[in-house]
Amino acid sequence: MNPRVRFAPSPTGQLHIGGARTALFNYLFTHHNQGQFLIRIEDTDLERSKQEFTNQICESMKWLGLTWDEDIVFQSERTSQYRIAIESLLDCGDAYRCFATKDELDKIRKETKSFSYPGIWRKRSDIEIQSEIEKGNPFTIRLKTPESGETSFDDLIYGTIKVEHLEIDDFIIARSDGSPVYNLTNVVDDNDMGITHVIRGEDHISNTPKQILMYKALGWDVPTFAHLPMILGQDKKRLSKRHGATGVQSYRDDGFQPEALLNYLSLLGWNPGTEEEVMSLHEIIEKFELSKVHKKSAVFDEKKLNWISGQHLAMQSNNTIISDIKLINDTWGNSESHEYCLNVIDLIKSRSKSLVELMEQSNYYFNDPNEFDEKSVRKIWKDGTKDIVESVRLILETIDNWENKFLEEKLKSFMEERELGFGKVMKPVRLAICGTVNGPSLFAIMDLVGKDVCLRRINYAIDTL
Ligand code: GLU
Repeated sequence: MNPRVRFAPSPTGQLHIGGARTALFNYLFTHHNQGQFLIRIEDTDLERSKQEFTNQICESMKWLGLTWDEDIVFQSERTSQYRIAIESLLDCGDAYRCFATKDELDKIRKETKSFSYPGIWRKRSDIEIQSEIEKGNPFTIRLKTPESGETSFDDLIYGTIKVEHLEIDDFIIARSDGSPVYNLTNVVDDNDMGITHVIRGEDHISNTPKQILMYKALGWDVPTFAHLPMILGQDKKRLSKRHGATGVQSYRDDGFQPEALLNYLSLLGWNPGTEEEVMSLHEIIEKFELSKVHKKSAVFDEKKLNWISGQHLAMQSNNTIISDIKLINDTWGNSESHEYCLNVIDLIKSRSKSLVELMEQSNYYFNDPNEFDEKSVRKIWKDGTKDIVESVRLILETIDNWENKFLEEKLKSFMEERELGFGKVMKPVRLAICGTVNGPSLFAIMDLVGKDVCLRRINYAIDTL
């Protein structure tokens, strides 16, 4: 059977890392098994749901490349389906109206020291209920849950989970304003959408037995459940806004590429069982199995994300990287030819972890450094440095064959002749040309930016430092 799965976010905030991981695991599972991936927006909480969040979530899903197979289902458009399900439960006696007031319930809770509803309206006569309705008294609707036995289900990740029915009270399925609750809408939708596998965060495990009771009461097939382990921050607390950037959009803005982020997210609770962790989405789909997802919480590790992202960047074509950079900053590299930009990327892509970092590192390929890193100046630009750099300039001025290997030869023989170490010569020259002391081969940089630029920058450093 080809699975049908769904990602069901509530549009009360933007798509965060946890939601994206849930969406991804649904996507991986269903693509591995040639199934379908759907989206349902759970927007029944009218106060907290916002159109702008729905838009943001969809944007982020598209950016990640987690495309869905059918039109998005909106819960706010399905009120009549929920009504029909509630009516049918009332009609067959599997649900009942409860006229207990808040004060009454509070009192019971105090007396019994429990939040469990003791079924006080479960066995009332039709006449009694009719009279309350006629008086116009408000009521909630509750599911009549079994009084003995247990509900159990085989979670694909957590194994068999059993709950005694004694622990499940007659819970509310429609509030006194008539609005259905999450446990009802979720079941009605999953059934109507033909969902075969419900894959979601483990924080929903406690809802599952209640939902199964509802499927049974409605006479519907129960889907298979798979609950995903929690994601924690470095402090081992549940990942939240407190941990800084948790929204997918901020990773996009920081220059992470979707494939890298997906690759990292795929490792939160799963691993391919091989050493190789850097994978394309296609490879992850091939390898992904729900049975290999761990129960143990996963810790979000920014350093590992950076590493994975750097590995993805290094593997990509220079052309792809340029187009991705242009999406963030369309003026990048505009002062030079495309050819030149390709060479810049080629030199620095293996040294950057994100597109934003790559752009920062590319600065001196396009602009003369107008300030020099102070600490480096103190360390590198000593008495006598100026004379050495001036000698280098004289040599460079005579070179016509301005080319990586030749520059290296010339400067190396200068260092040998004068018995000067690399640090004494090349570090100050690098500082003059790049404004910083880190980067790829200086000869390659000099080759790329060209003779005039190098001489101009060296002159400027000699004059100002
Ligand atoms: N709207 C729920 C959430 O965002 C979905 C739960 C589910 O997938 O069943 O947590």
